[in-house]
Amino acid sequence: MGENYKLSQRVKNLKPSPTLATDAKAKLLKCQGVDIINFSVGEPDFDTPQHIKEAAYDAIRNGFTKYTAVDGIPELKKAIIQKFREDTGLDYKPTEVMVSTGGKQCLYNIFQAIVDDGDEVIIPVPYWVSYPPIVELAGGMPVYLPSEPENGFALDIDKLKSLINYRTKAIILNSPSNPTGMVYSAEELMEIAKIAIENKIFIVTDDIYDAIRFDGKGFENPLSVLPESRDWVIMVNGVSKTCAMTGWRIGFMGGPEQVVKACSKIQSQSTSNPNSIAQKAALAGLTGPKDFIFVMCGEFKNRRDYILKRLNAIEGLKIPVPQGAFYAFVDVSSYFGKSFENLKISDSLIMSDYLLEKGNIAVVAGAAFGDDRFIRFSYATSMKNIEAGMDRFEKAIKELR
Ligand code: PMP
Ligand code: GLU
Repeated sequence: MGENYKLSQRVKNLKPSPTLATDAKAKLLKCQGVDIINFSVGEPDFDTPQHIKEAAYDAIRNGFTKYTAVDGIPELKKAIIQKFREDTGLDYKPTEVMVSTGGKQCLYNIFQAIVDDGDEVIIPVPYWVSYPPIVELAGGMPVYLPSEPENGFALDIDKLKSLINYRTKAIILNSPSNPTGMVYSAEELMEIAKIAIENKIFIVTDDIYDAIRFDGKGFENPLSVLPESRDWVIMVNGVSKTCAMTGWRIGFMGGPEQVVKACSKIQSQSTSNPNSIAQKAALAGLTGPKDFIFVMCGEFKNRRDYILKRLNAIEGLKIPVPQGAFYAFVDVSSYFGKSFENLKISDSLIMSDYLLEKGNIAVVAGAAFGDDRFIRFSYATSMKNIEAGMDRFEKAIKELR
């Protein structure tokens, strides 16, 4: 007790995931009896479908409770290969595919496998909160590529080209995007795929929200538009969002064999196989009925439309229309400089604290995603909560003078 330990430099510089931290804060307040409406964490509020749960019960009953192959059970890998074939038209070998404890661990493994100290990884802004720390934990340097809401957060291809140098190892893509809900166009994906081939840099494409799209289009990533980029594309996906399985912790990846084998080696020395029961459940998610995904997407679309209507009715806010995922990324910067009593709102962190304490709603500050003008609402919560939460938000924001 009282010892001042010298922890690693690596961990000293590391901040906990702000999305999970905000969620924990909101849950703690709720436990203490405060009536909080939680728009913070991004996880579907739908229950995991029954047929997926049944597969897990069966796995337990049948004693499927031991270590499995580090990189996943063959039948799940087969289902993933089938999904990749449907998504991209490409055939992957079992050695080019692996299963991990969530998409997050896939990303962690990938950057541990491809990045050396000082290597650069291009990250479009706004970005999902965990990309920069995952790159930094591997010794890499995030290089940020800004984008603007006015043109739908489109990638600035010229700027991208200008950032590439001999240290550039990869670029991360996430479409539909967390936090903006934007999707890249086929033309943008084509451009990036060509740039990756030409410059021999990896595209790590985080397709975790692939099935949650409102624009009527099907799956799109650099491989689906330019299969020739296969040598440079690493796909990350999972069942957390599309099968409402966040707690089960199953993600998967597909990419060049050397990269996948390296990831498997890292996983064998860190976590071993992902949970055996959850793997059986994920298999049911990938191979079983898909109608629940359409139901879920339809509900997310209704909520998106409602939340946009409410936000657009408030003066001074700017909200690019999300085309997928379940987030509204709202520019609240016109309220910066205003105050509530003695509290001056000068950035997104103070705004989100104000909304939590005075408005009793939890949102995530845009600063966590690299753009301080914004706050993020996750509308993966019931319509009833959204209605009440929007009333609270409107009241709190109108109280700023
Ligand atoms: N990528 C993005 C963009 C996400 O929003 C998430 C959600 N946590 C993940 C990856 C990782 O998801 P999981 O680890 O639950 O598969
Ligand atoms: N991806 C979700 C979010 O952004 C879950 C939290 C996390 O994994 O950071 O809220």
